[in-house]
Amino acid sequence: MISVEEALEILLSNLPERKVEHIAFESALGRILAEDLAATGNIPPFHRAAVDGYALLSSDAVNAPVELAVVGESRAGGGMPGQLRSGEALSIMTGAPVPEGADCVQMVEHSKLSSDRRTVTILNPMKIRENIAVKGSEARSGEVVLPMGQRLGPAEIAVMATFGYREAKVYRKPRVAIVATGDELVEIDQTPRPDQIRNSNAHCLASQLRYLDIEAEYLGIARDDKEELRKRLLEGLERDVLIITGGVSMGEYDFVKDVFDGLGLEILFSKVAIKPGKPTVFARRGDKLVFGLPGNPISALVTFECFVRPVVGRLCGMKAPELPRMMGELLADMQQVPGRTAFLPGWASWADGGWKVEPLRWKSSADIIGFTRANVTYIFPKNRNFLKRGELVELMLLPDFFARQR
Ligand code: AMP
Ligand code: MG
Repeated sequence: MISVEEALEILLSNLPERKVEHIAFESALGRILAEDLAATGNIPPFHRAAVDGYALLSSDAVNAPVELAVVGESRAGGGMPGQLRSGEALSIMTGAPVPEGADCVQMVEHSKLSSDRRTVTILNPMKIRENIAVKGSEARSGEVVLPMGQRLGPAEIAVMATFGYREAKVYRKPRVAIVATGDELVEIDQTPRPDQIRNSNAHCLASQLRYLDIEAEYLGIARDDKEELRKRLLEGLERDVLIITGGVSMGEYDFVKDVFDGLGLEILFSKVAIKPGKPTVFARRGDKLVFGLPGNPISALVTFECFVRPVVGRLCGMKAPELPRMMGELLADMQQVPGRTAFLPGWASWADGGWKVEPLRWKSSADIIGFTRANVTYIFPKNRNFLKRGELVELMLLPDFFARQR
């Protein structure tokens, strides 16, 4: 049985090439750049006043206070001012171009305008470039301002607007399909017979994909029947990634394996030393990837975050889509049978200068209700059978960690 780390290596060495597309600026939010965007001009495009005040030559103010002749004004958008000479000052507004000849701007608070407004007294000596944003100091024309791989958030959208980029090359989001399997499953709006349950995994997985900004296509429930599973798989293989849940546990695996083999799907692993989620399958046919996740609800949820997210996130162009981790102090003694890395539900909170994690109810990998109380999973290393209260453990933050409250 391979370890979680080995499974990740296999996943990452089987990533198909990412596809790209051009996207209009208006719908680029959240997308990831597949090209470098360079400055199409200098920013600022001129020496720009950073305060309201007076533009002058700093050498005129060495013996401040000094009185200078006010020769005009420069407003943002009010045209380029003319040359300034020694002995002169120009009234200037924040964001306006500094005139040629001036090398500093004195704040209005440190200046005194005469009552006839023809002269101004500069009260303190000035440094060269004081209160001036030098032309090209934020970006020089041609310089890469948004590198390939950068996610386009609000600030990046502002940069695109600054340089007049109406569109950009971004990674195309993969198309992801979900199939649930099991004779016992019915849809949410149906009343289950005594031997049936509602399909919850498909909706859980679709929501997890939504955190990666992907609208999954749900292809319905496949009965435990080879021909039916084959048909759904074929349909799913029209997309980039297919996620099936259920049907991969010990008793049923042979059945899935037969169908995968029949479709020319190469199974790259079928068992991982993870708890929950041991019977996780990963298969590939050319550019198409298939995940077979266990049917137990927490197993499906956890294996998605551990194995599907790193792959789908990368296909979207992310460099490190893995859920972030941090260390936290365990608030109770915990035991487990060693052999598998366990991801167990916990509640992490900040107290006394550190993160603390309270282990939560864990009835089984089916107990999705218990899992709704969690904001992290804490990681029980596979070679350990006992963790002591007060030990530092690794916490994997759930994707909505910052939004979850108790
Ligand atoms: P399986 O992996 O098919 O052996 O299923 C393991 C357990 O998960 C069984 O108790 C199934 O009834 C349950 N299960 C399988 N698929 C789903 C699903 N889509 N939603 C909720 N529970 C499921
Ligand atoms: Mg099943």
